[in-house]
Amino acid sequence: MQDDLKLFTELVEFLISEEANQPVAIPIDTNKLYDSIDLELRDEPTVDDAFVGTLKDIIKSTPKTASKAFFNQLFGGRISRSTLGDLLAVMLNNSMYTYKVAGVHVGIEKTILQNICDRIGYGSHSDGTIAPGGSMCNYMAMLMARDAFDASIRNEGVSGKLIAYTSDTSHYSVTKNASFVGIGRHQVRSVKTNAKGEMLAEALELQIQEDIAKGYHPFFVNATAGTTVLGAFDDVEQLSKVCKIHNLWLHLDGAYCGSVIFSNRYKHLVNGIEFTNSFSLNAHKMLGTPLGCSIIVTQDKKHLYQSFSNDAEYLYQTDDDAFNLGKTSLQCGRRNDALKLWTLWKSVGTKGLEHIVDHQFYVAEVARTYIKSNSDYTLYSFDDSISVCFNYKGISAKTLCTKLYEHSKLMVGYGTFRGNTFVRLVTINTQVEEKDIILFFKVLEDFVDSKDL
Ligand SMILES: *Cc1c(COP(=O)(O)O)cnc(C)c1O
Repeated sequence: MQDDLKLFTELVEFLISEEANQPVAIPIDTNKLYDSIDLELRDEPTVDDAFVGTLKDIIKSTPKTASKAFFNQLFGGRISRSTLGDLLAVMLNNSMYTYKVAGVHVGIEKTILQNICDRIGYGSHSDGTIAPGGSMCNYMAMLMARDAFDASIRNEGVSGKLIAYTSDTSHYSVTKNASFVGIGRHQVRSVKTNAKGEMLAEALELQIQEDIAKGYHPFFVNATAGTTVLGAFDDVEQLSKVCKIHNLWLHLDGAYCGSVIFSNRYKHLVNGIEFTNSFSLNAHKMLGTPLGCSIIVTQDKKHLYQSFSNDAEYLYQTDDDAFNLGKTSLQCGRRNDALKLWTLWKSVGTKGLEHIVDHQFYVAEVARTYIKSNSDYTLYSFDDSISVCFNYKGISAKTLCTKLYEHSKLMVGYGTFRGNTFVRLVTINTQVEEKDIILFFKVLEDFVDSKDL
């Protein structure tokens, strides 16, 4: 192990120098991939220099998500105290299903879950779990809602048409999950949004009435805190009123921006969160932990047990259910994804998490100000969002983003809303500062002036 730890340190140092020297790795054409790096698995072992050389080739060509030129996705950067926690989790290699095997790590996960439940005003019956991604959190929410609507579905399967509602700007996992839970994709209603991409409560109400009139069974509403393209926040308070009237499960998908719960300045964006039945957030997005750290909590833990608990004598042999986390999990064997958030939170405090969140909004504001003060730019996104959407000199966003990537200048993606396609700059990397954002625009502008576009 000592030798590999030494090698690990050497490789990480190589990675860090690569990130500085070549913030956007030179992309390898897919049809040249297997010729450019030795990925083949042979009968004979690969040893020493050849092995290390290949690892370095891999590191060199890996897209650099922690560099300051990466704005492509809803995650980015590297916060070392959190990475440390994840590295520890790998070394400790516990599995979270039982207290016997996970020990103190059960307490680590439960401490995080309880703090989040308290923070959002969930009552004393609340609890949660950690899932392999935000999509899977949404899946768990829909399953709990299905079983809360009719617990016999677990044994008998779905009969009749169960209807789920989500906005036309929400994440694609909602539709995908509808097929997993057995209600079918066609039973997901795409509810209209306003000009900012926020779900319209009146449109939701009308759609529900229409479905009831047809003899269908509304059961689930998915609201979003931070839509994937614009970073919009649905009005949870208003939607919760509609859900209350019709007795529907309200889930708040906060995968992208649910972490605003840590900010005194921005938590108003999820006002009414205490009226939701479940809420999820990805700590690997706004809080900057390594992938993945996805948390789902629910008002009443009985729903977790109802949908996810199974008896298994070969597994659950000691301790009570509250400490055997397998009883409330989608998975069986499960790594400790809580530790990376715990090491971060423990070391910077809740105030540190707040600062992380606030900083992203600040940097987004810097970007919007730059855009607004320069007539070559058109802004498409709104305040209180860390997705800054724009076009430059009317150039096709798709062409611009693709060429910036092919020429190793910047990693940034594009999105579409109401027929407009635009560059989406995501200011989620907490290490990105004001000057890095100004540099982003300069690099983009110089590139447009060059003959490479
Ligand atoms: C990222 C995201 C998801 C999916 O999360 P994964 O961890 O990638 O599965 C779901 N909903 C929203 C709003 C997201 O931004």
